Amino acid sequence: MAETIFTKIIRKEIPAQIVYETDSILAFKDINPKAPYHILIIPKIEIPDLRSIDGVIHSELLGKLIDAANKVAEILGVKEKGYRIVINCGEEGGQEVYHLHLHLLAGKKLGWNPA
Ligand code: 5GP
Repeated sequence: MAETIFTKIIRKEIPAQIVYETDSILAFKDINPKAPYHILIIPKIEIPDLRSIDGVIHSELLGKLIDAANKVAEILGVKEKGYRIVINCGEEGGQEVYHLHLHLLAGKKLGWNPA
């Protein structure tokens, strides 16, 4: 798999506004936010997209990503009001960076228009 910009962020070779980090997960602010809070939550291992996920093999990692999302929501102070998790997959799914990531969007009443 080709390395992406996110690998450079994981290695701290390029800057990012990190909000949460564990040994296996990194969460940082999206450079082009689509909501008042827009955080990207990524595994440190390189998985290109959702189609590369095996529910059994990656079950622990998936659990950690969800735990991280809840932790980030807590850090941002949006856990009670709520937030949205989005995973874009592939060309028509709107994916631009082929390193699996969750978008956490929050901070206002979100609409429901994928266009
Ligand atoms: P995708 O479209 O692949 O689901 O989402 C990729 C996201 O990565 C986009 O929301 C885009 O703004 C964000 N992004 C792309 N390059 C960078 C970068 O260098 N730094 C940060 N913080 N976000 C980035």
